[in-house]
Amino acid sequence: MLFRIWFSLAAITLSFNTIAAEYIIQFTSTKSAQLIAKQMNLQTFTALGSTFAKIKTDNPRPLENNPNILRIEPNITYRTFDDSWEEVTDPKFNMQWALSNQGMNEPVKPDQLSPLPGTIGCDISAQRVWSEITTGSDQIIIAVMDTGIDYNHPELKNSIWVNLKEQNGLPGIDDDGNGHIDDIHGYDAFNDDGDPMDDKGHGTHCAGIIGASHDGKGIMGVMDKVKLLPIKMMNHKGRGELEHAIKAMDYFAKSPARVVNCSWGSNLYSEIFQEMIVKLEQRGKFFVAAAGNLRGRNNDQHPTYPANYQVPNLISISSHNARARHSHFSTYGPKTIHIAAPGTKILSTYIKEKRKPRYKVASGTSMAAPFVTAAVGLLLHQAPNLTGDEIRNRLMETAIKEHHLTPKNITGARLDLYRLLMNIRTQTDE
Ligand code: CA
Repeated sequence: MLFRIWFSLAAITLSFNTIAAEYIIQFTSTKSAQLIAKQMNLQTFTALGSTFAKIKTDNPRPLENNPNILRIEPNITYRTFDDSWEEVTDPKFNMQWALSNQGMNEPVKPDQLSPLPGTIGCDISAQRVWSEITTGSDQIIIAVMDTGIDYNHPELKNSIWVNLKEQNGLPGIDDDGNGHIDDIHGYDAFNDDGDPMDDKGHGTHCAGIIGASHDGKGIMGVMDKVKLLPIKMMNHKGRGELEHAIKAMDYFAKSPARVVNCSWGSNLYSEIFQEMIVKLEQRGKFFVAAAGNLRGRNNDQHPTYPANYQVPNLISISSHNARARHSHFSTYGPKTIHIAAPGTKILSTYIKEKRKPRYKVASGTSMAAPFVTAAVGLLLHQAPNLTGDEIRNRLMETAIKEHHLTPKNITGARLDLYRLLMNIRTQTDE
């Protein structure tokens, strides 16, 4: 009854000058959720053992004191961390400086004569890893929480995770009983259905960096063999909300993937989201988060989330260019960003567009994170018992120190896949 009065008051207030905003409620128990949801006519959803609901109000304060409610938070908007995009006419491996830097192979726009020379060898040592250690494995499952993945892309279709029970099951039926119908290739948390097709291109670009097939055509991913698990949580504009992130986290929790790529974020903190990451540490799950693109901004003072959550099973990634310098668009953080990875002019796969190749060159910390995510996938395959803390330390201690990166992140270093997998520790101070 009280709620009804409060709601009509809220409606009156709304007609004056306040704007109702969306909030996410986390209930103290299932019983509380049932009680309140019925009273307030709310739709609930569950994730990681908790019950949640979305509510629109201009005044959340009365709810904060409700004993049935554990937390109430703004329904934060998350955005993809892509800074710029460029068309490409003839995508090929020798444009992928991040995998093999020959000094002059940074992709250029058609009207540009030649790129600035890169630094030969400023790459993640991918070719050495492929020839001496591994090109990946179908046993490695990597989640990409993003705008979806174009699972029909010729370079990706053989590397998309398949939910066999759903593939061999009946249409319209939740064959594996995970709460989602026909989730053959993953889940769409934004639209709450079983089809994670990408309608933006961002998730497909991240996916190609991790696992574009080494088939002699187009480009190569860090891994030839991998299983990519798309969890779509953002729309065609590259935006999603806390509600979708919570649902995406639940799917990741239930999935066999040990590592997830998060090339997105917000400057707003969510206790709900942080607690979920902590819970997932106990299940051996690891998060790779892009540090953000607000150029010149220091994450130590102006945090980006999830990159800035102080939890052991998460690594925060800034971007460097082909000259081993901090990318101009990337945020920095001498106390909060762990390592850098290639993120300037990265060629990768893209969604289907009329008369255009299914590739684009993109820049952003969004592009840097997937290199590290792939690295974590390979590392966990090699050493499945590593804890979150150990994975992060290993990444930090084997990264290559660079003079120009020194004030930009904790280690002043960039990802090197060969050193990571061989466990070659970086010398202290050159
Ligand atoms: Ca299912």
